[in-house]
Amino acid sequence: MAQSHEIDVLVIGSGPTGLTAANLLADSGLQVALIEKNPGSGDEPRAISATDETLRVMQHLGIMDELGPQMLMDTGARYFGLGGKVIADVRPGAPRLGQPGKSQFDQPIMEGLLYEAATLRQNLDLHYATAATKIQQFSDHVIVHATRTGEATTGFNGSKAADSGQDPYAVVEGQETALEFKAKWVLACDGGRSFTRRELGIGLQGSTQVERWIVVDLLDVPGNPEPFASFHCNGQRPAVVVPGVGGRRRYEFMLFDHEDGDAMITPESITKLVAPFQNTDVVTVRRAAVYTAHQRIADTYRKSRILLAGDAAHLMPPFAGQGLNAGIRDAVGAAWRLAAVIKGEANEMLIDDYETERRPHAAEMVKLSKRIGWVVMNTNPVITRVRDAVVTGTRIIPALNRWLTGMRFLKQPHYTTGTVTAPISGVPHLAQNFVGRMLPQPDLEVNGATVKLDELLSAGWNTIEVVAGFQLVFTNQEGDSVRAKDINRVFDTATGTVLLIRPDYYVAGIAPASQADQLLKALSAKATVLRTFGVAKQGTRG
Ligand SMILES: Cc1cc2nc3c(=O)[nH]c(=O)nc-3n(C[C@H](O)[C@H](O)[C@H](O)COP(=O)(O)OP(=O)(O)OC[C@H]3O[C@@H](n4cnc5c(N)ncnc54)[C@H](O)[C@@H]3O)c2cc1C
Repeated sequence: MAQSHEIDVLVIGSGPTGLTAANLLADSGLQVALIEKNPGSGDEPRAISATDETLRVMQHLGIMDELGPQMLMDTGARYFGLGGKVIADVRPGAPRLGQPGKSQFDQPIMEGLLYEAATLRQNLDLHYATAATKIQQFSDHVIVHATRTGEATTGFNGSKAADSGQDPYAVVEGQETALEFKAKWVLACDGGRSFTRRELGIGLQGSTQVERWIVVDLLDVPGNPEPFASFHCNGQRPAVVVPGVGGRRRYEFMLFDHEDGDAMITPESITKLVAPFQNTDVVTVRRAAVYTAHQRIADTYRKSRILLAGDAAHLMPPFAGQGLNAGIRDAVGAAWRLAAVIKGEANEMLIDDYETERRPHAAEMVKLSKRIGWVVMNTNPVITRVRDAVVTGTRIIPALNRWLTGMRFLKQPHYTTGTVTAPISGVPHLAQNFVGRMLPQPDLEVNGATVKLDELLSAGWNTIEVVAGFQLVFTNQEGDSVRAKDINRVFDTATGTVLLIRPDYYVAGIAPASQADQLLKALSAKATVLRTFGVAKQGTRG
């Protein structure tokens, strides 16, 4: 007989997407289980570039205090063309979301911290060395069959395990146990080769990159890191170098058709590849792997009660540094909607909005990653010369130059369909720009103390009324209010309006302050909880 577990949501896969989603779902009070086929969290040389939005989510989950010191914050990227000349120096604009636009990190460290956070959530059960093997869908639940190998149900921190000599991917010895999970909903975060996606027969459109790359993580690199990643588009062997803190450094090199991946990954070959960039006597190779990137997107993100998220839903080359970041957006976008529907605060139209919002943006990121890859990987002597001339030529057109150097080609999500509503008439034109975008996170002042905006947002929906004199009034679902001063005048253009903030910190709509009711009504067909927004009115918080 299979061991059975009954929960609200089953998360499949404990990569960054699955761990983030599981933590968020648990925080919303649901009973959650996570299954992962490996014995612990990951330890592969993968993502290295995090966006402000991802870091804001990590802040929300309470791991930024530990993650921050292990990151090189606020970085840019420098592109070198033929002859090693700088053709572009790019850097995101001033932080808008309360975290730098781009920072360098180490994926296994983030995964390890997310794993540790997950172990602290009482209503989140972790099952490692446990692979999903079969899925059955019913009208009001899903049954996922899984096999656990060995006795361990909780895993270990992959990053730390490898430092101590343990292999996070070692096959767990022991007998096999059959498990059965009965869940109201399933969130499949089981990566690019997603078992769930295949089991559900969901197609994956796109292609596989022809070029293979080798990726190497070094430790003990001496000197202070410069705050930018360098892309060497030299027409010979394209390479990417990304600094980190504490002597960490990432190298990525393109392999040529005739080169054998296994031979190129030996310590001798790595030393040769790295030698043009730094002294190789003093460094330690922490991880090295050969990979082939894909540029693909799933046909749909939902089949009945199962949602796909992260690499299970989209795969992109790493050149724009967006794969993990898109996965974190998915995790957030799926988690708050599942929580709302399971708690009876919304109907399933809200779940449909998950794909409506997330899929087009991910598709755009896949395309962008492919384009940047083309720029970086080209070795054709004529094309590379033209490329360098075109890129440097943008310097004479200021608007184009700002678009390039300010990394505006990396479009932030701006949802115009989904769980958003058009501005109610009477809202000033500039203020309408808030809708469908993530709410800024400036510093505010409350009773003389400086606080980050997110500290004033309650779980669930919130409204922010922008009052003359740079005052903001935050109100939560229960009707509690708190007033703060917008010291940097970030919301100045929205004076006299009220913004409706979703549980994922996106702005769902905006209305003149006198018409806040209309705003709530516009979305209450989906998010039924808005029908009673603020009704409890429990007083003022500050
Ligand atoms: C070299 C490289 C550089 C990159 N750089 C960046 C970057 O700078 N920025 C960025 O944003 N992204 C980057 N990425 C992409 C990023 O690493 C991925 O997008 C990210 O890991 C996806 O996370 P995920 O949780 O969706 O999937 P994964 O991390 O793949 O996790 C999926 C998990 O599901 C588990 N699983 C699979 N099948 C089952 C099953 N049947 N049962 C139970 N568990 C299962 C797997 O074991 C795995 O642990 C890079 C990738 C590479 C390779």
